Amino acid sequence: MRIDIITCLPKLLESPFGDSILKRAQDKGIVEVVVHDLRTYSLDKHRRIDDYAFGGGAGMVMMIEPIVRCFDALKSERDYDEIIYMSPDGEQFSQNMANELSLKGNLMILCGHYKGVDERVRENYITKEISIGDYVLSGGELAAAVVSDAVIRLLPGVLSDETSALTDSFQDGLVAPPVYTRPAEFNGLKVPDILLSGHEKKVEEWRFEQSVKRTEQKRPNHNKEK
Ligand code: SAH
Repeated sequence: MRIDIITCLPKLLESPFGDSILKRAQDKGIVEVVVHDLRTYSLDKHRRIDDYAFGGGAGMVMMIEPIVRCFDALKSERDYDEIIYMSPDGEQFSQNMANELSLKGNLMILCGHYKGVDERVRENYITKEISIGDYVLSGGELAAAVVSDAVIRLLPGVLSDETSALTDSFQDGLVAPPVYTRPAEFNGLKVPDILLSGHEKKVEEWRFEQSVKRTEQKRPNHNKEK
């Protein structure tokens, strides 16, 4: 898989992709993440990528021209399955969407800033708009990192324990059961006996029951919303 992220603040993306699982996935060649500085596509001598909003009002708007120049340059090299714009009013990101995106080959993600991008970009070039929640961030970079992380960890070979992603919350419509590790007792706080019993089947049953109970408690509408 290849993910091209277009931003006017490339530095913001260095750390999320430069460590841990996302870094290993790239080192192993499972995913290629390429961050593009939108300013290099500006025709302006000051490398501007934003301008005042037509009709007035506070806040700058990202100009269509540098964005489309960047899109065209990338599209001339390969086909893209989706051209994504991160936006607070986009479709709400979910595990289902992460699963779907993890099956794609090439993704482009445009990060907005200021007041967002010229509407003509959204109407004519974007194929999918994603929100990570009903709140407003100052830029799309952190949101793009969230989406990329959730997608990349699903790619085969990224997590060392192949079954691990499958037992995470939401994969089977349930949240994950509680987990414990050593010591078995800490200041009188004990781990449930069943987990120390060595009965694999009973442990599985207990985990499933806990997942069902937790889903009812913490996400009572999860399966009804779908
Ligand atoms: N004026 C816009 C918000 C712009 S915030 C509005 O009210 O809808 C600046 C940029 O941050 C956006 O263009 C988008 O790319 C990103 N962003 C902000 N909140 C986001 C969210 N919840 N999900 C995804 N991207 C978000």
